Amino acid sequence: LFVVFEGGEGAGKSTQVNKLAATLGEQGHDVVVTREPGATDVGKRIRTLLLSDGTGPAAPSPRAEALLYAADRAHHVATVVRPALAGGAVVISDRYVDSSLAYQGAGRTLPVDEVSWLSSWATGGLKPDLVVLLDVDPRTGLARVAERGMAADRLESESLAFHERVRYAFLDLAAADPKRYLVLDAGLPADDIARAVGARATELLAT
Ligand code: C5P
Repeated sequence: LFVVFEGGEGAGKSTQVNKLAATLGEQGHDVVVTREPGATDVGKRIRTLLLSDGTGPAAPSPRAEALLYAADRAHHVATVVRPALAGGAVVISDRYVDSSLAYQGAGRTLPVDEVSWLSSWATGGLKPDLVVLLDVDPRTGLARVAERGMAADRLESESLAFHERVRYAFLDLAAADPKRYLVLDAGLPADDIARAVGARATELLAT
């Protein structure tokens, strides 16, 4: 089973990734937790290129950025995700293809069908069985990130409009393929979110 968590800044993905991993681990499943960008050694070097300068002069141009995310993903899928799935593990990834469609496509306004093609080339067409979208209003999400003092400068260098395009791109992707998605309000208590996600994942594992 391949489960992906998606959502804007401050949606609480990493908390929920860890909660689902714990739940499925307790049920006896072999669980591999991973993330994009930067899960592998190659990916960590790519992540530095992508995220160290925000929108500053050393930041990659939009097409270069899209290719770097695709390179990170290609290596991640080939060396982490596919081998783990082949070994029977449940793979839980913090971000995947939809983040590129939302950030590089809608956010940077590259044609979404081109970013989609690039992603499916990078992954060899590997799709998640379940995408959990933690939906958050960017004002709320960015405020949460600022409270944690994490990467606030870089995030604030993108406009609110950028983060709103990202949010609605995620929601549109979910609406277009409702069976594959579980959309939850990121403002709900973390344990309520975890219960809903755990129930859906357990149901999928039973079928
Ligand atoms: O999920 P995490 O906070 O580690 O993501 C790091 C940053 O990378 C996010 O703030 C997001 O803005 C950015 N990102 C992106 N395009 C992607 C994936 C992540 O712009 N495809």
